[in-house]
Amino acid sequence: MPEFDLIDRLARHVAPAGRGVEIGIGDDAAVLALARGEVLVAATDTLNEGVHFTADADPVGIGHKLLAVNLSDLAAMGAEPRWALMNLTLPAEDSAWVDAFAEGFFRLAKVFGVQLVGGDTCAGPRSLSLTLLGVQSPGTALTRSGARAGDRIFISGSLGDAALAWRQRQAGTATLPDSLARALDQPEPRVALGAALRGLATACIDLSDGLFADLGHLAHASGLGAQLAISQLPASSRLREVETPERWDLQLCGGDDYELCFTVPPAKTPSVLELGRALSITLTDVGVMTDSGAVACLGPDGEAYEPARQPWNHFAMAGGEQPS
Ligand code: ADP
Ligand code: MG
Repeated sequence: MPEFDLIDRLARHVAPAGRGVEIGIGDDAAVLALARGEVLVAATDTLNEGVHFTADADPVGIGHKLLAVNLSDLAAMGAEPRWALMNLTLPAEDSAWVDAFAEGFFRLAKVFGVQLVGGDTCAGPRSLSLTLLGVQSPGTALTRSGARAGDRIFISGSLGDAALAWRQRQAGTATLPDSLARALDQPEPRVALGAALRGLATACIDLSDGLFADLGHLAHASGLGAQLAISQLPASSRLREVETPERWDLQLCGGDDYELCFTVPPAKTPSVLELGRALSITLTDVGVMTDSGAVACLGPDGEAYEPARQPWNHFAMAGGEQPS
């Protein structure tokens, strides 16, 4: 399929005028307008066949996920997503695949008001990369580095379903329960929550590599440690069918959750719970920031628990290493 046909196949999904889009697809570069008092917030992520998804994976889900993982990064900053640039490397003659991929991508783009404004298209082994641009007021970005000792640690939604789904799919389970398949293929980025946490959370990170590792990044950036009460970790009813400690390892190290993990001063706990009710998102207190310099996990009886640090072979189709 010629490259131009392929670009047209994507461009036909794009509404003619998007917010702030002065020049979109079709010229040599996009021109985007920022309002006074806005800063640009940028994130990018790549999905490769054989590493992040299998050759037979549903392209609708891949389109969704390519955008969702980037939306999750912007959510963790508290930014409002606006524009996307997409780099596609695809085998030739892939129009049916592209149409299904576009369906997943643009369905989610519509939900969050994201406009595709450009990209690049090449032939080669399938690889998809998205750069997502958003805006927010200067000085309001949530960072990983603002937590203080004594801050409470909260998690949105529940953990471990995507990892459980991945494991069941790898084991050849014929059809996954809907809720598990959705957690893995169509994660719901927490954009509204991230925006609402500006001025409330002291630090925030999105969970892509598993709580244990990602909270470790937040703690490190803040020059702190953390203590997690693992029996408090939110779990779906499906996940609760998995025995501990296996369940804990899925929750701590499984990855692909795309939930937000954030910290607040203890006095702000009621505001957090109120926010969860207002947004209909479960927000769970799972622990406390400490000045220990490491992430410690405590079991139900207060005993130390050492999670299996190996991620659940989750993305590890291409030789065992988890890509980032
Ligand atoms: P150039 O050779 O000048 O880079 P291209 O022919 O690659 O131009 O692209 C033409 C237009 O199509 C540009 O506006 C570019 O941003 C857009 N475009 C190319 N590939 C994609 C893609 N995968 N998604 C969105 N826009 C794309
Ligand atoms: Mg180009």
